[in-house]
Amino acid sequence: MELHLTPIITDALVAAGQNPKCFVGMDGVRAVFDSQNLDLNGKLSIERIVVGALEKARAEGRIPMDMQPVIYFRRPENTTNSPTAPTAPAPSTRPVATGVKAKTGPFGVRFARRAIPGVKHVVLVASGKGGVGKSTVSANLAVALAKNHNVGLLDADIYGPSAQILLGLSGSMPVTSGNKLVPLEGHGVKVVSFGFLTDPTQPVIWRGPMVSKALEQFFYDVEWGELDYLIVDMPPGTGDVQMTFAERLPVAGAILVTTPQDVALVDAKKAFAMFEKLDVPVLGAVENMAWFTCPECGHEEHIFGRDAFQDFIKERKLKLLARIPLLKEIRVRSDEGMPAARADDATTNLPWDALAASVHGALPVD
Ligand code: ADP
Repeated sequence: MELHLTPIITDALVAAGQNPKCFVGMDGVRAVFDSQNLDLNGKLSIERIVVGALEKARAEGRIPMDMQPVIYFRRPENTTNSPTAPTAPAPSTRPVATGVKAKTGPFGVRFARRAIPGVKHVVLVASGKGGVGKSTVSANLAVALAKNHNVGLLDADIYGPSAQILLGLSGSMPVTSGNKLVPLEGHGVKVVSFGFLTDPTQPVIWRGPMVSKALEQFFYDVEWGELDYLIVDMPPGTGDVQMTFAERLPVAGAILVTTPQDVALVDAKKAFAMFEKLDVPVLGAVENMAWFTCPECGHEEHIFGRDAFQDFIKERKLKLLARIPLLKEIRVRSDEGMPAARADDATTNLPWDALAASVHGALPVD
């Protein structure tokens, strides 16, 4: 194994601009890396590079399909080679909250969870894939919940923040004399978004550790006040942001948003598996763009399919929280910053209030 893998891993690290010296070498089935100077995000990016390179080598037939080494980070002073030895993140980049005991979990995450003072329930709205309507669902759920509760919306979709557009907000967040950020408020929801920090016309290129730090500021350095629910619009996928939430916050539950299309469901399954491993309860799934009704003849078309979503929730024993049609009104209202779930909006008959009631039922606040 050693002969085959060493050059593949070394070349991949060099190509990705990483120092190849962090690769100590193969030790039986383990690819051993030196974890000195690597925080969690550093380790995750090395893991990603190596997994990607090995996948490619397998696909090209350069190594056997069953050659799956274990990626193992070792501290230089650690001579026991124990695969369970914890690897500590660099304290300068990932401070562990005082008084919070860190414990290691799957994917090498270091749990050091600390609640946001005043916030009762943190609810993650997630999808595996982008473009399936996660931000639309987050914003409308937040607005629907805000009819009866104190609600915040944290747009953690760093690469495509849109909460500010969906809720008709612009500008930047004021900072208090105590250096706390003040959320902007739209349709009764307190909103914090990466979109308030960045130039909307420029792409966001943030490295993992910066993302984690910014997120921690959004958790603890914001004047959230008393919130019943903090709804979080997650970025798609299973990366740095997801890890930071799992490590840092006690999360009450996650909602999976997906279209019924196979390609979206593959990613939703990955997201579900991640939450299961990280011990985040999944409250249920929202099927978005479930059908389209022809405005001319009233025919109902299941553009993205149907059965695969039903199979998905059945297999995972997931609660169906809402089915949302593909509807021009939803897109138009989103672009106008006038979410369809507003209290005074009776023009659409969508199940936003029912979705809010399900969340409240699963996570009561009174
Ligand atoms: P994500 O957050 O998953 O990337 P968005 O919520 O930004 O997805 O939705 C992607 C696009 O699809 C947006 O233009 C949005 O207005 C539109 N959209 C989302 N859900 C619907 C729907 N049910 N009907 C019509 N358009 C929708």
